[in-house]
Amino acid sequence: MSDSVFRNYIAGEWVDGASTVANISPADISDVIGYYAQADATQTEAAIAAAIQGQQEWQRSGLEQRYSVLMAIGDELISRKDELGRLLSREEGKTLAEGVGEIYRSGQFFHYYAAEVLRQMGETADSVRIGVEVETRREPVGVVGIITPWNFPAATGAWKIAPALAFGNAVIWKPANQVPATAWALTEIIARQNLPAGTFNLVMGPGAQVGDVLIHSRDINALTFTGSLETGRKVAAATATNLVKCQLEMGSKNALVVLDDADLDNAVECAVNGAFGGTGQKCTASSRLIVTEGIHDRFVEAVVERMKQLVVGHPLKDGVHIGAVADARQLSQNQEYLALARQEGGTLAYGGEVLSEESDGYYMQPALFVDTSNDMRINREEAFAPIACVIKVKDYEEALATLNDTNFGLTGGLCTTSLKYANDFKRRAKTGCVMINLPTAGTDYHVPFGGRKDSSFGPREQGSYAREFYTVVKTTYIRA
Ligand code: NAD
Repeated sequence: MSDSVFRNYIAGEWVDGASTVANISPADISDVIGYYAQADATQTEAAIAAAIQGQQEWQRSGLEQRYSVLMAIGDELISRKDELGRLLSREEGKTLAEGVGEIYRSGQFFHYYAAEVLRQMGETADSVRIGVEVETRREPVGVVGIITPWNFPAATGAWKIAPALAFGNAVIWKPANQVPATAWALTEIIARQNLPAGTFNLVMGPGAQVGDVLIHSRDINALTFTGSLETGRKVAAATATNLVKCQLEMGSKNALVVLDDADLDNAVECAVNGAFGGTGQKCTASSRLIVTEGIHDRFVEAVVERMKQLVVGHPLKDGVHIGAVADARQLSQNQEYLALARQEGGTLAYGGEVLSEESDGYYMQPALFVDTSNDMRINREEAFAPIACVIKVKDYEEALATLNDTNFGLTGGLCTTSLKYANDFKRRAKTGCVMINLPTAGTDYHVPFGGRKDSSFGPREQGSYAREFYTVVKTTYIRA
């Protein structure tokens, strides 16, 4: 147990909040990770004012300064991946391997955007008026508000903070209140870099309080949000009223299609990894498994056999494949979705029990339902749980239509050995990311990431595409 208080970081200073909150591990509720400051509206306003000041100086900093800052953050994350990965797993509940992997990936985001600092090129053109030249260049958008969810405490922050700083912006980061420790640790690294005071600010606290101030502020120039659809709609409405640039990454109801000609072993790995990795708490999780008739029974049997090998337990223990559910509220919501799937006519093929571990945390066995149809609520709403539902279909066309029949559109997967179906699928799947013979979860850091329909709104994140959100274009006319 720790009685340390971890403070907010505003205008280059560590400051007490209006109150504190205990950060309790979902893997063991007797494990108090620390006490974290909670900002109020006044403190959040102070962070915005500091960011306005800091940004003026940061945008005038040399490219090599920005490059060095981002490289140093990336280097430190990677060199401390084991220690910080442990902290992340303790507070979020995902396995140690997943926690360490997330910290490593976060470091890679900083390294990637360090290189982007040096790739900021403009364009020149002849004007239609003789003797006039036109130049287009990108400038920082200004002050960026960043609001992140609890399921990727380091990575969602990293993939927004790194491009924001690379392109010369100041940042106010509000992490999810369930996972302040990882955010604080990343801030502590950033605070030791050569950044003007106010360029980077951390304000911890509840969404309805701290987040609410950020999304309604007229002094923030761009707001990037990752979280649920419900909150995303509020962010969109508030920022639209003030005409603030906004980017939203939200939930999904991703599907993996398995065709008769699929390599069965690979299809099973894709399904199990995509559906249950990260305890099913991924926006890219495959909660729908759409399977054609000829392979259906063999696939279900093999997935159940594979699920029997999965060890659920304390995330820091060796040999554990699935860690803890994020909190008590999420665990009880998972159980409600299990009951709903049964009521709607689904047959539980395996799992679903709440497990009492030797440590007092929130654990459940992953669950697989069969005999489900795409119109059931369990196949339409994002449960954010280790629950997957099999939907049996006749053929490829019905599978594709079923995959696209959803309000969401983040990732879509297909397992097949047919080039014809693979090629067709990558064109007709109405999702932002398509995975062929791969799990629906698991993306790279140097290419765009995002979805369609209710999954995403605004410019794409990650890779060079991030430039669109974090910069504004200026067109200059010059008569020589
Ligand atoms: P959430 O919407 O409850 O919270 C997300 C963030 O918004 C948190 O920091 C929260 O404090 C803040 N917030 C809450 N209410 C707010 C308000 N009224 N005003 C401003 N901010 C507010 O989401 P969550 O439960 O933390 O995360 C799970 C969701 O995130 C899932 O839907 C998941 O699919 C989604 N997600 C999406 C991606 C993606 O890239 N598409 C990645 C990870 C998670």
